[in-house]
Amino acid sequence: MPKQKQAPKKNILFGEDSRKSSAKLIYMIMTQTVCCPYCGERFESNIDVSAGNEDYFEDCQACCRPVRFNTHISPNGELIRVEIRRDDE
Ligand SMILES: [Zn+2]
Repeated sequence: MPKQKQAPKKNILFGEDSRKSSAKLIYMIMTQTVCCPYCGERFESNIDVSAGNEDYFEDCQACCRPVRFNTHISPNGELIRVEIRRDDE
């Protein structure tokens, strides 16, 4: 009579694999309070400092007009300054 092979302990291997696949995600988001150049209302904007210098539009949370953001990020990921402008300037 041939000896029966022992089944591999799949449950333990699966546990190790699932732990390895959960990669650590690092976000570098800074919340900056800005003043709307159209209506003067203050609102908070989330700036992704890990993306470097950026030029983009974000709608004002009060009047919904497009506010132009110009972010200046230092090489080590620090927010130096944010320029806020109207689209029509
Ligand atoms: Zn506004």
